[in-house]
Amino acid sequence: MRLSSRVMKISPSETLAITAKVNALRAQGRNVIGFGAGEPDFDTPVNIKRAAIKAIEAGFTKYTPVGGTDDLKDAVIVKLKRDNNLEYERSQIVVSCGAKHTLYNLAQVLLNPGDEVIIPAPYWVSYPDIVTLAEGQPVFVNTREDDGFKMSPQQLKKAITNRTRAVIINSPSNPTGAAYSPDELRSLAKVLIDKDILIISDDIYEKIFYAEFPFVNMATCVPELKDRVIVVNGVSKTYAMTGWRIGYAAGPEEIIAAISKLQSQNTSNPTSISQKAAVEALSCDQCMVDKMVSEFQKRRDYIVAALNDISGVRCFSPEGAFYVFPNVSGIYGRSSKGKKISGSPEFIDYLLDEANVAAVPGAAFGNDNHIRLSYATSLENIEEGIKRIKEAVSKLLS
Ligand SMILES: *Cc1c(COP(=O)(O)O)cnc(C)c1O
Repeated sequence: MRLSSRVMKISPSETLAITAKVNALRAQGRNVIGFGAGEPDFDTPVNIKRAAIKAIEAGFTKYTPVGGTDDLKDAVIVKLKRDNNLEYERSQIVVSCGAKHTLYNLAQVLLNPGDEVIIPAPYWVSYPDIVTLAEGQPVFVNTREDDGFKMSPQQLKKAITNRTRAVIINSPSNPTGAAYSPDELRSLAKVLIDKDILIISDDIYEKIFYAEFPFVNMATCVPELKDRVIVVNGVSKTYAMTGWRIGYAAGPEEIIAAISKLQSQNTSNPTSISQKAAVEALSCDQCMVDKMVSEFQKRRDYIVAALNDISGVRCFSPEGAFYVFPNVSGIYGRSSKGKKISGSPEFIDYLLDEANVAAVPGAAFGNDNHIRLSYATSLENIEEGIKRIKEAVSKLLS
């Protein structure tokens, strides 16, 4: 079959592929512990579900305005004021079918062939392909483990060319969990301030945050830059609503209008029922979020300590999100049954075959020295999974 060169240039999402593989193995009866999932293990809170049921029963099951209902836009506006001290009009908000869709739309409306987008690595798996699909050019900045996986102003400066259209900042980060402090953002802003570059702020892990400093994004932190920041967020991670598919962008009116236009020719509106649920999620008492976050933090503390206790593994403690990104390169070169482990994909295969543990190779995120483990699973699973990893590693021959 002859397929477009466009789709041939991209790869399937590796994290979704691993989830599918784990499900297939489980269906065969294998007792696999999954650290692959990029979604909270908690159920969607009951008040949010009820809002959706109510929407169905009230017949709120038809097309809505393409860029989201006024109701939901208003809830987003209130949220951005309440949590981020940012003010927007309805014309500056667009709701899409998940934040991934928001980011896809952004690339489609902003990029011309060859336009460069700076992506700090390790990066979320979808950024490069989203940019490539829009015929843009991803430009990677390899952040260092010693810098806590944060891009330095010098690194940012070096990556900028006259083709740079945008830089993506994902704080807290998937996969490293690194979060920029207000001071760190301000020093990056100094590099950007006199340049015609947009800042795409992927705030999806805003609430899953453990650092001493407060969460901020570039728009809040550096008001002079607000007109060039597109804030991207959604309900998936904060409210355990990955399946509902609601994400949104806030930013310059022209960009937002372009996204609505684009959406009018592909998805039309995000699901009407999910929009009602998202209004409830954003507007209700937020205490259930704190409960989830304190549970995540307990697991983080456990998993970081347990990983650091394995020979050849070094794990830094993330400031947010629900992933750890341990350096496992100390294990590379060891072998099992005559097969040498020479990188993250081989190590991941070994863990799945030998220990029935699933995780994601760091290579998928642009750093082969690491693997990503999601701790969005019960403490019991984490304990058992790490025990299995430890045993499997001890069986390797150096
Ligand atoms: C999960 C995730 C998203 C997108 O989530 P949606 O479910 O599409 O809203 C965006 N960015 C990062 C970094 C993520 O991990």
